[in-house]
Amino acid sequence: MRVFAVAEHKFGELNPVSVELLNLANMVKGDGTSEAVVVGGEAHAFSGSLASRADRVWVIGGDQLEYYNPESYADVLLQFFEREPPDLVLLGNTSQGGELAPLLAVKLHCPVVTDVVGVFAGRGEITVSRYIYQGKLMVDLRVSRLPCVLTVRQGVFKEGVELSGKITELNLAPSKPPRRRFSRLIEPEKGEVDISKADAIVAVGRGATSSLQLAERLAGILGGAVAGSRPVIDSGLLSKDRQVGISGKTVKPKVYLALGISGAFQHVVGMRDSELIIAVNKDPQAPIFSVAHYGVVADVQEILPKLLSEAEERRSRKK
Ligand SMILES: Cc1cc2nc3c(=O)[nH]c(=O)nc-3n(C[C@H](O)[C@H](O)[C@H](O)COP(=O)(O)OP(=O)(O)OC[C@H]3O[C@@H](n4cnc5c(N)ncnc54)[C@H](O)[C@@H]3O)c2cc1C
Repeated sequence: MRVFAVAEHKFGELNPVSVELLNLANMVKGDGTSEAVVVGGEAHAFSGSLASRADRVWVIGGDQLEYYNPESYADVLLQFFEREPPDLVLLGNTSQGGELAPLLAVKLHCPVVTDVVGVFAGRGEITVSRYIYQGKLMVDLRVSRLPCVLTVRQGVFKEGVELSGKITELNLAPSKPPRRRFSRLIEPEKGEVDISKADAIVAVGRGATSSLQLAERLAGILGGAVAGSRPVIDSGLLSKDRQVGISGKTVKPKVYLALGISGAFQHVVGMRDSELIIAVNKDPQAPIFSVAHYGVVADVQEILPKLLSEAEERRSRKK
């Protein structure tokens, strides 16, 4: 199979998903090839890193491709795929990938499957795995006709083989001027703390909202950060960049203290790889206990002040 990974980059930085796509391409290509395609004004800057994971790298540059534009990018990618017909086209399951994938699939007259977490190649067909019902079930879908376009979930295919692919530069221009043009990039405001880098997280759920201040003090003593489940963020008690879970951040601290959090799947996917998980919940049946290393069945309002005074005492003993 000829498997093409459409690399993604923004303002001089290659999105790591590009390499993950190549890792997947190498896994499924069989006796075919893994090929990276990178489009854009500064595309050549990434050819080296892509070549270390691909059999071949295609760099598509040109005056009119300086900034990402879905219409122009899809246009030149389609011109390219006319010359180099793909069996499989992989894109990141990102906003950019989500925008380009259907545009490509429609014009290539082929199916598109989004947010893929597994691909198994057969003879002239593939089987892809993805979650449905907000992650509650996983399904395997057989795609019996190739080519096919897939958007691939980030962080799944991190490991891969080293290669040294041939780099080819191409100059292509969009066949017509795009209706949209890039004006400026507005980045979301950065919070003062990046919870994904914290070693200790004190996470507050709906059952512990009244203890937020104590949780903040405890996080301070532990040298960590306070985070929250979605209802806590939605209620405005913590900013969005503190949300842990499927629609928030994925964290992997040394200690994750879950206070009054039920342990819904959407929360757990964002914290289950923490080194040590301690959960406090007054409901002994709360699902959070099935991922916690230590569970305390108690009222947060009773236990947190005790925990805090113990931590304060230990800190003052250390001084
Ligand atoms: C598309 C989608 C995306 C989502 N994304 C996310 C996400 O990224 N992150 C996320 O967190 N959620 C997300 N959710 C929401 C998720 O399904 C849950 O609703 C949410 O995680 C529940 O938050 P919670 O555990 O704080 O609240 P609840 O489910 O209400 O649980 C509160 C818990 O606190 C306990 N409790 C109550 N009082 C006390 C007390 N005094 N002491 C001790 N325990 C107490 C209760 O027993 C209960 O277990 C998403 C949902 C959808 C549909």
